[in-house]
Amino acid sequence: MTTTFAIAIHGGAGTILKSKMTPEREAAIRATLTESLRVGYALLNEGGCALDAVQKAVNVMEDSPLFNAGRGAVFTHDGKNEQDATIMDGFSGQAGSVASVKHIARPIDLARLVMDQSPHVLLMGDGAEKFAVEHGMELVDNKYFYTEQRWEQLQRALAKEQRASDNKGDLSLSEDDKHGTVGAVALDSQGHLAAATSSGGMTNKRYGRVGDSALVGAGTFADDLCAVSTTGHGEFFMRGVVAYDVAALMHYKGLSLAEATDLSVQTKLTDPGGTGGLIAIDKDGNIALPFNTEGMYRGYLYKGSEPMVEIFRE
Ligand code: ASP
Repeated sequence: MTTTFAIAIHGGAGTILKSKMTPEREAAIRATLTESLRVGYALLNEGGCALDAVQKAVNVMEDSPLFNAGRGAVFTHDGKNEQDATIMDGFSGQAGSVASVKHIARPIDLARLVMDQSPHVLLMGDGAEKFAVEHGMELVDNKYFYTEQRWEQLQRALAKEQRASDNKGDLSLSEDDKHGTVGAVALDSQGHLAAATSSGGMTNKRYGRVGDSALVGAGTFADDLCAVSTTGHGEFFMRGVVAYDVAALMHYKGLSLAEATDLSVQTKLTDPGGTGGLIAIDKDGNIALPFNTEGMYRGYLYKGSEPMVEIFRE
């Protein structure tokens, strides 16, 4: 039993510049982040578990067209939406993930279903959707995920790729169009931790590319010491097994949450050229939100306090 509980969330990291953001968009993003924190907090305040809190907090961002997850998911090279998600319960050590799902409005709910109702950890594509239907989850038409902003983002990425005709093998994207993903981590009043991450992946991805958000240890991890959710260029997070790396640094090296997350993001992710950030919470309720990009949509809320929401590098 702890005397405190807390939740932290992110809505993606990247080249998020105040000069490029309209006041209306900024207000809408802040309002959704605040709502997400409040929904998770309400559950924790009623004595609910961290696992439910992170799932419900992520649902709020999945339902919004403003974030790259659920409704606002980015487009693949073929103009489709393929989403990844993972949820992990630090108390039981159980986890569930889905990869490349196309017709799931809230991929984190399917990840939870995989965790609760299957003997597996990761289901992908058509099989994952068949499992969803068999367990009473409705599929949505791909049109549900159409937003003008994301469609234009894909068109920009395709045009850029076309222009780079002298470098056809280069599938890299501009920083602007690259990042997204939403996530939450929480500590409940029982002292249990949980983490959840949901993502449309990267604009213009192809060949069935799957990102770190579908992989336990890379994009999401929770145990009895800490809970972590990441956002950024997934390939770097996969190679660095970043979410688990934070936990390992704490367990085996005895680092604090602040030290472990700082080393993981500012050195181990940054040195090879990885961009992004993460949110993390430990068993004592310490929270860290490091990133190496211009900005990261982020927020946290401690028991008895007011929601803190930030976007830019202040
Ligand atoms: N990490 C996600 C991926 O690589 C994208 C992001 O967080 O921006 O699929």
